[in-house]
Amino acid sequence: MECIFCKIVRGEIPCAEVYSDDSILAFLDIAPISKGHTLVIPKEHYDNLFDMPDEVGNHLLKVMQKVGSAIMKATGATGINVVMNNYPSAGQVIPHAHWHLIPRIEGDGLFRVKQGKYDSNDEMLTLANKIKENV
Ligand code: AMP
Ligand code: ZN
Repeated sequence: MECIFCKIVRGEIPCAEVYSDDSILAFLDIAPISKGHTLVIPKEHYDNLFDMPDEVGNHLLKVMQKVGSAIMKATGATGINVVMNNYPSAGQVIPHAHWHLIPRIEGDGLFRVKQGKYDSNDEMLTLANKIKENV
């Protein structure tokens, strides 16, 4: 199956580019949660966070800081969400690793994910240990 983000990287599909270098591209999301909502992607195809080589990490972090600051300046946002959906169960629709940078303004009421609670402290600590054993 053809990857739509790989097509954007190759210039076969247009995008509203905001940043590009040898390994990273950033462009506006076509269906923004707020105006200025930007996607940052590695130009190389990786499905999600878990198949990305660690060399990409340092540079990607720098680019997200640079582009994130630029989005805030350009939109007047006072905050920014950095979101990555991995696998369809987490809402990933396009299987090419990407980060959403979503500009926010105080009181915009856009989204705040509902949080829950553990049945007991014991349940919480047991799960923490289970995750620890799997690291
Ligand atoms: P996700 O649900 O994390 O996979 O996000 C995919 C995002 O890609 C969605 O927010 C879409 O609005 C966005 N999107 C899909 N096609 C395009 C496109 N051609 N140009 C820009 N953004 C796109
Ligand atoms: Zn791709």
